[in-house]
Amino acid sequence: MFNKRVKVKDLLASEPTGQEVTVMGWVRTFRNNQFIALNDGSTNNNLQIVVELGMLDENTLKRITTGASLKVTGKAVPSLGKGQKMDINATSLEILGDSDAEKFPLQPKKHSLEFLREIAHLRFRTNTFGSVFRVRHALAFAVHKFFNEKGFVYMHTPIVTASDAEGAGEMFRVTTLPFDNPPRNEDGTINFKEDFFGRSTNLTVSGQLEGELAATAFSEIYTFGPTFRAENSNTARHLAEFWMIEPEMAFCDIEDNQNLAEEFIKYLIRHVMEHNREDLEFLSQRLAEEEKQLPQDKRSEMGLIEKLEFVINNDFERITYTEAIDILLQSPAYKKKKFQYEVKWGIDMQSEHERYLVEKHFKKPVIVTGYPKEIKAFYMRQNDDGKTVAAMDILAPGIGEIVGGSQREERLDKLTERMKEMHIPAEELWWYLDTRRYGTVPHAGFGLGFERMVLFVTGMTNIRDVIAFPRTPKNAEF
Ligand code: ATP
Ligand code: MN
Repeated sequence: MFNKRVKVKDLLASEPTGQEVTVMGWVRTFRNNQFIALNDGSTNNNLQIVVELGMLDENTLKRITTGASLKVTGKAVPSLGKGQKMDINATSLEILGDSDAEKFPLQPKKHSLEFLREIAHLRFRTNTFGSVFRVRHALAFAVHKFFNEKGFVYMHTPIVTASDAEGAGEMFRVTTLPFDNPPRNEDGTINFKEDFFGRSTNLTVSGQLEGELAATAFSEIYTFGPTFRAENSNTARHLAEFWMIEPEMAFCDIEDNQNLAEEFIKYLIRHVMEHNREDLEFLSQRLAEEEKQLPQDKRSEMGLIEKLEFVINNDFERITYTEAIDILLQSPAYKKKKFQYEVKWGIDMQSEHERYLVEKHFKKPVIVTGYPKEIKAFYMRQNDDGKTVAAMDILAPGIGEIVGGSQREERLDKLTERMKEMHIPAEELWWYLDTRRYGTVPHAGFGLGFERMVLFVTGMTNIRDVIAFPRTPKNAEF
C-alpha cells in the first residue's frame, strides 16, 4: 500500500504533466479549507495540495490540522499560485494520524531554539532541524566516502573499555555491581573482580589506542563512533556523548597528518555544498536573520556559504604553538588585558585564545603544531628540543578546536620513559606497547569531533542543536 509513495523532493524536481501521484507526509499549514502545505522531511519545500471545495466532508476538513499525517493521491499540475511550481489536485485524501491542534506544541510560527530543545522529539519537524539533520547525514556519508576512496579500513573500536589511561577522571563507569552494597576488598576498596567484566570498565573517550593496533596491520584505518566524556563543562561546544572520526595512518608523519586533515575537512564541506545546496541556503538565511539581533561587531563578516567557500578555496594557516603564543603576547587584546586567562609559553590555550587566533588574527582555520609535552598525552611523539611534542590542533572560526591529533611516539624506549614520568601503568597497556615491539613504524592520526564539524557547516551556534538528543550535565531526556 505504501510503496507507490513518491518523495516530495523527487516530485518537486520533476515536471508536473498531470501525472497521478501518491504522497504522504505531515501537514504544516492548511489555508482557506483548500490549500495544504505537506512536508515529508525530504526537503524544506512543502508540497501544495489543493482540495477542491466540496470534495471532503466537514468532519474530515476539521481533522486536517498542523501536525496531522496524510496520504494524498492526486494529479500533479503546474501551480496557479506564486511560490511553488506545482500543485497536487487531490482526488483522494486519507488522514493517517490526527493531531490535536490545541495540544500540538509546534505552531506554524517561529519558535526559539531553547524551546525546541525541550521538545527535541518533535523539532525534526521544523525547517531548521530538517536542514541540520539532512546536512548531518550528508556529512556522515561523506566521511565514509572519503576514507573508502582512499582505501582506509573502517574499524569499530570498543565502546566499553578497561583502559582509562587517556581520560583519567573524565570517564563514565560501566558496572553491574549494586550501589548500596558493592563487594569490597579487605582494605575497603570496591572489588571489581566481582564486576561483570571481572575488572573496572568505562565508556570510551576515544578509539585511538585500538585504532593504532589496526593501523599497524592495515596501514590506514579510521573509526567513526560515539565517545563519552564525563567532563562537567556546560559549554556550547561540549557534549557528554559525541561522535568522533579518528583516522590512524602508518608510514605517516605530522606533516602528512596535517595534509590529510585539511583535505578531509575540505572534502566534507565540498560534498555538502554539492549535495545540500538548498539546506545550506536555508541555514545561511537563518544565520543572517539571527545575527541581525547582534551588535555589528559580533556579526560574522561572511555569510555561511561564503565562509564555506572561503575555507575550501584557501590553505589553512600553519603555525607552531610557540608562534601562536608570540602572536597572542603581541596582540592588542593582550595589551588591553582583554583575555581572562593568562598567556605565556606552557599554557593550555583557552577558547578565548584559540578564537582570537582564528577569528581576529588569521580569519581562517589554523593548524597549530608543536605543543609543550606537559599539556599533551603520553603517546605523542617527542620532538628533539626535549620540550615539545608532534601534536596538532586545528582551530576553526566560530568553533575553536575542531581536530586534535599527533604523530605517535613509535620508539619503545621513549614511550615507556614518558609513561613512567606520567604515572601511566605500562602493565595495563601491554597490548599497546606490543605495536612498538613488533615492527614499529612512524604513524600518526587525529580525531575530528563530528558535532563540531556539523556546527561549522550548518552555522548553528550550540552543539545541542546538531545532535538528535544531546547528553549534557543534568540532561538525558529522550
Ligand atoms: P576541548 O579542548 O575542546 O575540550 P579536547 O582537547 O578535550 O577538546 P580531544 O581529546 O583532542 O579534545 O578530542 C578530539 C576532538 O573531539 C576535539 O578536537 C573536538 O572536536 C572533539 N571533542 C572533544 N571533546 C568534546 C566534547 N565534550 N563534545 C564534543 N566534541 C568534543
Ligand atoms: Mn585536543
